[in-house]
Amino acid sequence: MLHKFIPDLYAKSIYAIDLDELQYRGIKGIIVDLDNTLVESKCCEATPLLIDWLNKVKQKNFRVMIVSNNSKARVSKFAMPLNIPFIYGAKKPLPFSFHKALKLLGTHRYETAMVGDQLLTDVFGGNRVGLFTILVLPVSDTEGLLTRFNRQLERLVFHCLKKRGLFGWEEGN
Ligand SMILES: [Mg+2]
Repeated sequence: MLHKFIPDLYAKSIYAIDLDELQYRGIKGIIVDLDNTLVESKCCEATPLLIDWLNKVKQKNFRVMIVSNNSKARVSKFAMPLNIPFIYGAKKPLPFSFHKALKLLGTHRYETAMVGDQLLTDVFGGNRVGLFTILVLPVSDTEGLLTRFNRQLERLVFHCLKKRGLFGWEEGN
């Protein structure tokens, strides 16, 4: 059970992800979380840095989409100007939105990465479906109540993983 909480890769931010390495691993599709992965949870527009990154991702022929537990209003306002497909109200870690995303991307689970800042929704959910999971550090610490609760649980899981020597940001970049 605990191994489902272990990401395949750790990165300090989306910008630290080695896209060439992903390609080498056969990844063709990238599902990204929105809040605190791409931008702060209170921020509604993409930064120039993020727009550059998304362009780079598309240039490398990755198919990309946003899967977020947040509301339609929040996710569509963010994703539509960027012309990126999205799923809102995803209820991660439940599997159905991940399956829907794979269908929309047209990629198999083993050639799809899930990038997110939360162990309990993004990593756990992605691992359950068999995606290649990448945990990034949260962009900001201004978070809602539910996320704060999840962070507490996350600390517990981190603690368990550390005790078993299974956890390390050292391994990634
Ligand atoms: Mg998030």
